[in-house]
Amino acid sequence: AGRLVLVGTPIGNLEDISPRALRALADADRILAEDTRHSAKLLRHYGIATPLSAWHAHNENDPGRLDGVIKALHDGASLALISDAGMPLIADPGYSLVRAARAADCVVECVPGPTALSMALVLSGLPAERFIFEGFLPAKAVARRARLQGLRRESRTTVIYESPHRLAASLADVCAVLGGERRVCVARELTKRFESVQVGSAQDMAAWAADPGEQGRGEFVLVIEGVQDAEEASALDARQVLEALLGELP
Ligand code: SAM
Repeated sequence: AGRLVLVGTPIGNLEDISPRALRALADADRILAEDTRHSAKLLRHYGIATPLSAWHAHNENDPGRLDGVIKALHDGASLALISDAGMPLIADPGYSLVRAARAADCVVECVPGPTALSMALVLSGLPAERFIFEGFLPAKAVARRARLQGLRRESRTTVIYESPHRLAASLADVCAVLGGERRVCVARELTKRFESVQVGSAQDMAAWAADPGEQGRGEFVLVIEGVQDAEEASALDARQVLEALLGELP
């Protein structure tokens, strides 16, 4: 019978791929990749000649394509799914495919690899026992602040992916909504040449990100400390109500 294998690939450093992942890619009949040109470089580097097909956010919900892949799996094909970086499905395409494959009783396997979320979390110095992953915050300011509002009483560490050109705005919103004292880690360019991990108050990290020299360079993960106790959360609530009321005064 056929199988769908989800294969983790490097998030920067090409050496971060296991022998088992390379074998899975080499042995597959076809590799479904987010960006075939991007993945071709990885495959070339390791001398893997498996044919590539595009599988990205724009076509993954196309029922015709899904049906085609499920049929190929039923016909015995072995397909590997990879993203441009890290684990497929983690803020990347693949969910529709895995859901459809499971619904059709196909074999689904995973060869795990790096993911920016767990790497940033373990480097942050913030509690990693219990955490939540928020993926990307909404791009629009109002929706982004509303999402952060929902995190104000969150006691678990929160991990967020951020695009370089929104980093400064998001950190400013973290300060405004969660308070400037909250500890925040900005993990940048993980496994790459200019990797850096900085931890500080939300206020300090927002000031750092607002520096024009720092803006817009690299890939970032934000790790935000959870609220320490309920009292602190209530104090924050009270302060925000007060600020809102004061804002109404003539
Ligand atoms: N599937 C990937 C994973 O497993 O981490 C995530 C893909 S998502 C489209 C891309 C985002 O992941 C980036 O905007 C950034 O927030 C984060 N990211 C990926 N690689 C990174 C790296 N080397 N350093 C820091 N963040 C990274």
